[in-house]
Amino acid sequence: MSKIRIYALAKELGLDNNEMLELLDSMGVSYKSASSTLEEDMVETIKALVSEDRQTQNTGTQAVAAAKAAAQPAAEEAPGSDVPHRAPVVTIMGHVDHGKTSLLDYIRKTRVAAKEAGGITQHVGAFEAQTSKGKIVFIDTPGHEAFTSIRARGARVADIAIIVVAADDSIMPQTREAVAHAQAAKVPLIVAVNKIDLPSANPDKVKNDLMQLGLVPEEYGGQTITVELSAKTGQGVEELLDYISLVAEIEDLRADPKGEFKGVIIESKVDKQAGVLATILVQEGTLNVGDFVVVGETYGKIKAMTDSNGGRVKNAGPSTPVQVLGFSEAPVSGEIVSGAKNEHEARDIVARRKEEREAAAEATTRRKLSLEEVMGS
Ligand code: GDP
Ligand code: MG
Repeated sequence: MSKIRIYALAKELGLDNNEMLELLDSMGVSYKSASSTLEEDMVETIKALVSEDRQTQNTGTQAVAAAKAAAQPAAEEAPGSDVPHRAPVVTIMGHVDHGKTSLLDYIRKTRVAAKEAGGITQHVGAFEAQTSKGKIVFIDTPGHEAFTSIRARGARVADIAIIVVAADDSIMPQTREAVAHAQAAKVPLIVAVNKIDLPSANPDKVKNDLMQLGLVPEEYGGQTITVELSAKTGQGVEELLDYISLVAEIEDLRADPKGEFKGVIIESKVDKQAGVLATILVQEGTLNVGDFVVVGETYGKIKAMTDSNGGRVKNAGPSTPVQVLGFSEAPVSGEIVSGAKNEHEARDIVARRKEEREAAAEATTRRKLSLEEVMGS
């Protein structure tokens, strides 16, 4: 794997240049022209996105429109491929106090909300829930920052967004924001109408109000799945999990545990005793203790891994969040993690990235200077 020019990648994927540039725009990737080069991480992400789109036939995305326009090889990689299914990754968003933490808490069956200072989620976490329909991975975000920064880097982390709306409060500013984020990321959403145990709950009002956001509930003939529930009593939670599994099935989520490793940083922190602790969500391939990994301009060797229940594990496959020990600096959440064969290769990748960034910074400075000359300042 190495760097590749945009037009060459477009050709390789059977897209025309404009389609490729549109795709890059939608991912928020900056470039000068079709002959600009792309980082190898980015190349991987684009390839994954295009093939994911081709597999899921997710007609809403530009990549798919592009794939269809290109029309030839798409059919061969369609469903039924022997790449195994993977568990869905779900993010829960919504207005403050509408019950996001309580819902996660109920699902996790531990009392996280009670432990949090002031009831505010302190950091992004991730955990796996076993349900009657299989495993579901939940990501707990403090707001939308993690979600948006992850998006900006071109990686799609969540497969499904749950928008929590309190039935006694209905649509609020952060509900709109959450819906907008999910729509921008083209992530299918499910609306959880929460707090229906309250006497003042008015779920019908919530469903009506959703239509202002262009979300028409299924019972009104639309496409939006809504589930009435109570994170307090647990009523309706099972139904929500069923819907998540259903949406996941439609999305036909697959990843190869034997493929090249790729993951994303969900959170990281520095522990006084243990050192840097980073939570990685494995997206492709398998991460093993002893592996070398690269994130941005740092690399590390995985010394130990724990799963979301705190148990030690030696390897982690697709859709598994693990907390790892082995970085010397805390990686930034949203950054893509890739593998390296050995320390030598890891060091090379990091050195190359540093050089490229410095060259780009220098070019910017030069441009600024010459602009100042032209402006006569
Ligand atoms: P977040 O800010 O969205 O994470 O909301 P929290 O989960 O912290 O909940 C805010 C408040 O609403 C807390 O006092 C919860 O106990 C309460 N709450 C959450 N879900 C329910 C529910 O289903 N029913 C009732 N009665 N209260 C709830
Ligand atoms: Mg919370």
